[in-house]
Amino acid sequence: MSRASLSVVSDAVTVRVPAKVNLYLGVGPLRDDGYHDLVTVFQALSLYDDVRLSPATELRVATTGEGATDVPADGTNLAALAVTEVARRAGRTPKVAIDVTKRIPVAGGMAGGSADAAGALVGADKLWGLELERPELSEIAAGLGSDVPFALHGGTALGTGRGEQLMPILARGQFHWVLAMSKSGLSTPAVYRELDRLRESRSDSDIVVERPDALMAALTSGDPSVVAPLLRNDLQPAALSLQPALRRTLRAGVDAGALNGIVSGSGPTCVFLCADEASAVDVAAELSGAGVARAVRTANGPVPGARVVTE
Ligand code: ATP
Repeated sequence: MSRASLSVVSDAVTVRVPAKVNLYLGVGPLRDDGYHDLVTVFQALSLYDDVRLSPATELRVATTGEGATDVPADGTNLAALAVTEVARRAGRTPKVAIDVTKRIPVAGGMAGGSADAAGALVGADKLWGLELERPELSEIAAGLGSDVPFALHGGTALGTGRGEQLMPILARGQFHWVLAMSKSGLSTPAVYRELDRLRESRSDSDIVVERPDALMAALTSGDPSVVAPLLRNDLQPAALSLQPALRRTLRAGVDAGALNGIVSGSGPTCVFLCADEASAVDVAAELSGAGVARAVRTANGPVPGARVVTE
C-alpha cells in the first residue's frame, strides 16, 4: 500500500498564506513572447489570507473580507484553479468547498491571488492525504503563476525567470514594515504595458538588470538602515504614472519617519521599511491620519510560506 493511501483524509483544512513584498524588482526588456525577465527579491510578510477547504458535492469558492467582491467566485478563481490541477493529477474530481478569508489587498501588488492558489494547493494535498513532495508542489505552483512558488515557500528569496525560480536568501532577524493600501487597485498587465511605453525610447541593450548583491548582503546583516536605501522597483515609475497620487503616499511615509518607501510589485500598495517595531507603529499612525491611504497596516517579515493551521 502506498504512503498516500495510508494517510488520514481530513474533514476540513485551513491554510494560512502570506502576502509578499518585492524588496528589489529588476525588469528586463519585453521579450518576443510578451513576458519580461525578472530579477527580484521577495519577502513574505505577516499579512495573511486563510484558505479553508472542506469536502462538498461540487467545486465552489466563496470569498469574504478585504476586497472580496472583486474576486471571481467561479472556476477562474486562482484557488479553484489550484484545486482543479491537484485533482487532475491525483485522478479525482475536485468536490471541494473553498472559503477564502482575504486580508491581502486585491490587485494590490502583494500577490494575494497567488497566495490563495498556494494555500489551496497545500490544502488539497492535505485534505486528500496525497503527501505530494515539495518539488512536485513547486512545479504545480509554477504552472499556476509566477508568484505562486514563493507564496508556497515564504521567507526571503531571490526570484529569477518570471520570478518562479527561487533561491532562499539568508535574512537575519525581523524587518518591520508599514503597508499603505490604495483606494483602487492596479492591473498587473496594465502596469507592465505602461513600463514598456515609458521605455519606448530606450534600446533593449540599455535595460540592464543586475543581481542585487548589495541588497542580499544587507539582508544578511539584518540592519534595516543598510537595507532601506537598496530597495528598488523598476515597476514603480509605471505605477506612479498610472496613479500619480502614490507619490504623496510615498512622501508621507518617509516624512512620518520610515527609512524608505517603495511601491510593492505592480502596486498600488506602498510599503515602508522602518527602523523597528515602535517606529512602524508611529509611522502607521501618522500615515492613517494623513488620509493618503484607504487602510494602513503594520507587518513583519520574513514569515513562513503556506502552512496548515487547523485540521
Ligand atoms: P501580483 O502582485 O501577483 O501581480 P496582485 O496582488 O496585484 O498580483 P491579485 O490580488 O493577485 O493582484 O489579483 C489580481 C486579479 O486576479 C484580481 O483582480 C482578480 O480578478 C483575480 N483573481 C483570481 N483569483 C483571485 C483570488 N483568489 N484572489 C484575488 N484575486 C483573484
